[in-house]
Amino acid sequence: MRAEAVIDLAALRGNIRALRARTGSAAVMSVVKADAYGHGLVPCARAALDAGATWLGVATPEEALGLRAAGITAEQARVLCWLWTPGGPWERVVAANVDISVSGKWALRHVLDAVRATGHPARIHLKADTGLGRNGAQPHDWPALVAAARAAEAEGLLAVVGIWSHFACADEPGHPANATQLSAFREALAVAEARGLRPEVRHLANSPATLLMPETHFDLVRAGLAQYGLSPVPEVGGPEDFGLRPVMTLQAQLAQVKQVPAGHGVSYGHSYTTAGETTLALVPVGYADGIPRHASGTGPVWIAGKWRTVAGRVAMDQFVVDLGGDRAEAGDLAVLFGPGDRGEPTAEDWARAVGTISYEIVTRIGVRIPRRYVGAGAAGAAAAAEGGDG
Ligand SMILES: *Cc1c(COP(=O)(O)O)cnc(C)c1O
Repeated sequence: MRAEAVIDLAALRGNIRALRARTGSAAVMSVVKADAYGHGLVPCARAALDAGATWLGVATPEEALGLRAAGITAEQARVLCWLWTPGGPWERVVAANVDISVSGKWALRHVLDAVRATGHPARIHLKADTGLGRNGAQPHDWPALVAAARAAEAEGLLAVVGIWSHFACADEPGHPANATQLSAFREALAVAEARGLRPEVRHLANSPATLLMPETHFDLVRAGLAQYGLSPVPEVGGPEDFGLRPVMTLQAQLAQVKQVPAGHGVSYGHSYTTAGETTLALVPVGYADGIPRHASGTGPVWIAGKWRTVAGRVAMDQFVVDLGGDRAEAGDLAVLFGPGDRGEPTAEDWARAVGTISYEIVTRIGVRIPRRYVGAGAAGAAAAAEGGDG
């Protein structure tokens, strides 16, 4: 093992349960886009379903088809995809019983083409732009979109199963945009209702809204970051404050440890020079593995029982740590981040060190780092034994 990301599926299941305890009658959609935020699409989706999530959410139609191809059926999970462009695999998506987000009349036309080509009715979620300014229909386009969808529904071509929107500032609890978006969403629902739509699920909340704004839960919450055990609102509280536990531990074996004299330059550009005779440890992961180059001189690493800092620049495949004379040897463990309870840094610590959010830290961990799944539980172990996807 050069390096690995250990994925604690028991923690993921516990996080889903902690979220369910907050959502009452609202269902939980486990958001597994972007390879489950870097944690692995199919094993995480299965663990979330085991723990009581009933929906899976992804960005692209290809991600949705990947879930169906892995054997996750429509009876096991509703799957919604929401980010798409003309020319996508719509016929396959419709035939695979994947729900599709529709943000405008052009999108509705593409869905209806796929329905006519396959003879299979579609399930759509109409998306309102309540203020985020990304996809979703603007208020002035909403009544016409609703009317067109209702007409197609009356013809038996599709079912409008959802009406939804997405927050811009849910991670800032007191931000005035939250109340504005919530009332715009209620307005969009009223327009849809007045025109005869009766969606199964109305949904607005992402992780921060799930944790902090119960009035936004409606019928379904879409939880991404929180299910991976990271806090979407680090200014408000850490994972433990919400009953969450980080799922990913990123670790590597030291590739070399050696003594060097004082005044020795370290890594490209010699931005770090040893202050005295010391021990350098080589950690064999770099920016090609998703370690931010911005972590040069700032990223935290736990080696030989102590928190230390990246010395000099992060290179493509490796970086160096100055152990300050402490002993270690090749093969010893370097923990870049984990749950934090052994004293190791967390993904949030990395986010802070490099000026980003923990979402980006875990999501960018590259394909060269194998994922090792632990805590699969009975159902997961059975799936793995069947030669599944583990
Ligand atoms: C990514 C995403 C989510 C999940 O967001 P988190 O903050 O990770 O919970 C929910 N809804 C939409 C539309 C998204 O794109």
